[in-house]
Amino acid sequence: MYKGIAGSEGIGIGNVVIIEEHEINIETKTVTDTDAELVRLQSAIEKFVEATNQMADKMDETVGKKDADILRGHIQMLQDPMIEEQISALIVAEKVTAEMAVDQVLEQTAEMFSQIPDELLQQRATDFRDIKTRMVKLLLGIEDVDISQVPADTVLVARDLTPSMTAGINPDNIAGILTEVGGRTSHSAILARAMEIPAVLSIEGICSIVKNGDKVVMDGASGEAIINPDDDTVREFQQKLDVYQKEKALLAEYAGKPSVTKDGTKVELVCNIGKPEDAKKVVECDGEGVGLFRTEFLFMDRDSIPTEEEQFEAYKSVAETMKGKPVIIRTLDIGGDKAIPYLGLEEEDNPFLGFRAIRFCLQREDIYKTQLRALVRASAFGKIKIMVPLVTCIEELRQVKAMVADIMKELDAEGVSYNKNLEVGVMMETSAACMIADILAKEAAFFSIGTNDLTGYTMAVDRGNAKVAYLYSTYQPAVLRSIKRIIECGRKEGIMVGMCGEAAADPKLIPLLLAFGLDEFSVSATSVLKTRKIISGCDVEACRALAEKVMQCTTEEEVLKILE
Ligand code: PEP
Ligand code: MG
Repeated sequence: MYKGIAGSEGIGIGNVVIIEEHEINIETKTVTDTDAELVRLQSAIEKFVEATNQMADKMDETVGKKDADILRGHIQMLQDPMIEEQISALIVAEKVTAEMAVDQVLEQTAEMFSQIPDELLQQRATDFRDIKTRMVKLLLGIEDVDISQVPADTVLVARDLTPSMTAGINPDNIAGILTEVGGRTSHSAILARAMEIPAVLSIEGICSIVKNGDKVVMDGASGEAIINPDDDTVREFQQKLDVYQKEKALLAEYAGKPSVTKDGTKVELVCNIGKPEDAKKVVECDGEGVGLFRTEFLFMDRDSIPTEEEQFEAYKSVAETMKGKPVIIRTLDIGGDKAIPYLGLEEEDNPFLGFRAIRFCLQREDIYKTQLRALVRASAFGKIKIMVPLVTCIEELRQVKAMVADIMKELDAEGVSYNKNLEVGVMMETSAACMIADILAKEAAFFSIGTNDLTGYTMAVDRGNAKVAYLYSTYQPAVLRSIKRIIECGRKEGIMVGMCGEAAADPKLIPLLLAFGLDEFSVSATSVLKTRKIISGCDVEACRALAEKVMQCTTEEEVLKILE
């Protein structure tokens, strides 16, 4: 049995498909039959065109026509007569292989575009490099697994799952996910939970342990996976799967009910989303609003910054889908484990302590203002609130509020409507924010506690580092005290305090959070009913007694003993 980090609950039974990242090696050699190379080139171009059209047609349905058209543009770029001629001429003149010629010409073209001081034209460099990689792979016969086409009952095994890989997943066919890296709060884990796919992460060497087609049974809640199990084990997991599915069905009785404790304390039970389309799932799962819209996903998996119009449409559509229910939209939170290549961020020794989130946005006012304008305009269509990530000092909040006020003046002059009472709140996820929670509470409209980062920054632990994972725990007294302090400071100033980190859905922590006085729980759409069930079973007075005991504990172990 292999043990990893419990990334997404559920029982998985299926067969392995390994997702490999291939290294590309182009051999330097001369050819005698250049005509044969020209034929190989043409056949690769034909395959490229066919595959690209197929991918774009699929994308029309999944992510929309705009992104699909970017891909269709790649066909024109490759078939530009100048480019084709240059590649063919190089094959004939230098007697090189088709892959060498493609690599050289497309790299030179990309390099040329990257030198032009115009952001839009620089995007072309990324496009040409993408085309180059795909063409070279076609010529070398390197095949990538198409995740969207894997058979039913597939257990995906990969070093890591990037958001773009997960975007292609059809959850109906994926029984589970096993990875070599990543923790419970890595974005691949968050996406797996959103799609209700069981996942076990950080199993050392799993990619070399399994072979394609191996049978796997796994439990995403305990973080266990067994490769090629015997018949008895398969039967045992089949039974576990049946029980799990029955329990899930029973939760239906909590749909349409208010989120209220046994003794009548009402809380808000809202959802975390990553894409505008996720809002539909929130409604389906009976979420009472959106507590965190991670807008950086709008910036990922594309080649350029989304325009104000594109962003406006995205925010507006979520606000409209939620029909007047609260929608907290977090402004761009990039850096750390969320890279956006076209923003050209430099590599840093300590990305989690570096130029990210609000720090980046306040220095790139051009990018930030576009986002804030889109948000303020969209506020006319629902109950949008703006949330600022990674705040560590009050000036950051003041600067954002000043930018929002300027934008409102601009929109007044343009005669564009917006919500004049638009709230700007703070994501409480650093130890600095916790220490100045009393100061921030006087100027923030609300708090939302981001326990994923708060745990990391409080314990000085990298979220994805398996070696120090034992310290990454929200049950640590240091983290619990931080959470309690933030809620107390918020309540003292009468502002709403919510939580959008993964801890908000943790059955062991919910009683404690109720005792501290948390107003809002923001969880993945698939956790709404389970969380409501737990809240409904709690009595706040009893929770307070429990909290008193827990807060006297001196170690994580003691805390867990009481909470369990
Ligand atoms: C958090 O830090 O708790 C959070 C919700 O944000 P993210 O996981 O996107 O950093
Ligand atoms: Mg965070």
